[in-house]
Amino acid sequence: MSDHTTFRVGGPADAMVFPASIDDVKAVRALARREGLPLFVLGKGANILVADRGVRGLVVNLTSLAGWAHDHGFFRAQAGLEVSAAAEAGRVGGFSCLEFLNAMPSTVGGAVFMNARCYGAEIADVFAEATILDEYNEETVVPFRREEWDYKRSPFQNRDWIIVEVKFRTRPAEPAEVEAVMRSNADDRTAKGHFLLPCAGSVFKNNHAFGAPSGVIIDRVGLKGLRRGRAAVSGWHANIIVNEGGATATDLRELIVEVKERVAATTGFLLEEEVLFVGDWDAV
Ligand SMILES: Cc1cc2nc3c(=O)[nH]c(=O)nc-3n(C[C@H](O)[C@H](O)[C@H](O)COP(=O)(O)OP(=O)(O)OC[C@H]3O[C@@H](n4cnc5c(N)ncnc54)[C@H](O)[C@@H]3O)c2cc1C
Repeated sequence: MSDHTTFRVGGPADAMVFPASIDDVKAVRALARREGLPLFVLGKGANILVADRGVRGLVVNLTSLAGWAHDHGFFRAQAGLEVSAAAEAGRVGGFSCLEFLNAMPSTVGGAVFMNARCYGAEIADVFAEATILDEYNEETVVPFRREEWDYKRSPFQNRDWIIVEVKFRTRPAEPAEVEAVMRSNADDRTAKGHFLLPCAGSVFKNNHAFGAPSGVIIDRVGLKGLRRGRAAVSGWHANIIVNEGGATATDLRELIVEVKERVAATTGFLLEEEVLFVGDWDAV
């Protein structure tokens, strides 16, 4: 899994499947159910920390499902399309949609699942509907309902659903306008050190009740540069934990736990992880 996650850690999956169609996803899921195998849906692996022992059962890697179309004012994308490719489709096609996410490592499905956000915009701003495979493995359409979306919350979490296609609202835009947003956001990410070392973006969610972003709180507690093995709290953004080369998933997890404990002990604030722990972990 280390080849399929942005932390560049994680042991092997028992099997990884690259579906070529929505019917393939359906068939693999039906097979997993028949055989009693667990199934994990993977996008770009940019928000997960996979255990050193890896993942049991099937990993369905949706990056092979990356078709898209722009018609009647909507952008329809299969779940595995990268958000940067979606932004580029808008630039070339002259429409505004997902350019705010340009250069963020993510598939469309992962971004929708997480309600990804940056630079004052979030997926909920452009989401129209998703086609999912529901708990009965049937194709179902989930329309936008404002009350089901919130900070880092979407209706797809904690459900046995697979997002296979998403329809977004668009508006006409000059290619130069879309390109300016894409370039500015990509440059800002580079300047903030997002791509210096393997990481999964922000490790902890922000909580407005704490009065400052999690990164600022962690910095105030003096934890920038804190290390466990080859995992470190980055020196340039305290909410980004990096793999300095050769870190294990255990190093990363222990460092996350230590940061959380030391912030709680010093400030009383209980940070909540944004990164998801995936695979064969010991219970903590
Ligand atoms: C350098 C860097 C910068 C980042 N900056 C930001 C940022 O600015 N804003 C932000 O919000 N995030 C940011 N992130 C985190 C990450 O990019 C997002 O959370 C991203 O949307 C995750 O998408 P993914 O395809 O990688 O999902 P994955 O990490 O592969 O999966 C995440 C979760 O979504 C589920 N999932 C994925 N696809 C589907 C599907 N089709 N159906 C059902 N479930 C699915 C998975 O099972 C898993 O539970 C950053 C990460 C990195 C590495």
